[in-house]
Amino acid sequence: MNSTTNPAKRVISFHYTLTNSGGEVLDTSRDSAEAFSYLEGLNQIIPGLEKAMALLSVGDKRKIEVAATDAYGEHDEQLLVDVPRTKLPNAEQLQVGDQFQASGPNGEMILFSVIEINGDQIKLDGNHPLAGEDLVFDVEVMAIRNATNEELAHGHAHGAGGHHHH
Ligand code: ZN
Repeated sequence: MNSTTNPAKRVISFHYTLTNSGGEVLDTSRDSAEAFSYLEGLNQIIPGLEKAMALLSVGDKRKIEVAATDAYGEHDEQLLVDVPRTKLPNAEQLQVGDQFQASGPNGEMILFSVIEINGDQIKLDGNHPLAGEDLVFDVEVMAIRNATNEELAHGHAHGAGGHHHH
């Protein structure tokens, strides 16, 4: 990443409430004192949301609908796999809901969850929990500013007032 090619990269802070297409609230930033902030162009939020947010100004409130393909992807049957218990870390104490990183069909690292245990056969699901879901983000843009050099170097947004978290 060469920050000089994109000097106008911005940090956008916004509040959001995320619902699925049935109107069920899945997540919200309204419980936090601070709005959620991200550095543009680094896929820190889902693609469909980032595209829509890029067009907004401070104070804008919008309902942004994001189809599954532009959110966490379609549910992929190939990511449902059965593996013998012995192939897994911590084999003796596995429980439904356990999660661990493993390489997926294309070699990329994927977070798999244990969804079923049948004796020595373990069923894993590498889909994101929100895969296949069309999502609705109710957003309010709280602040937009240019990223600092430090943020560009780190590849993420820092908190309000330049508070340094690490
Ligand atoms: Zn940092």
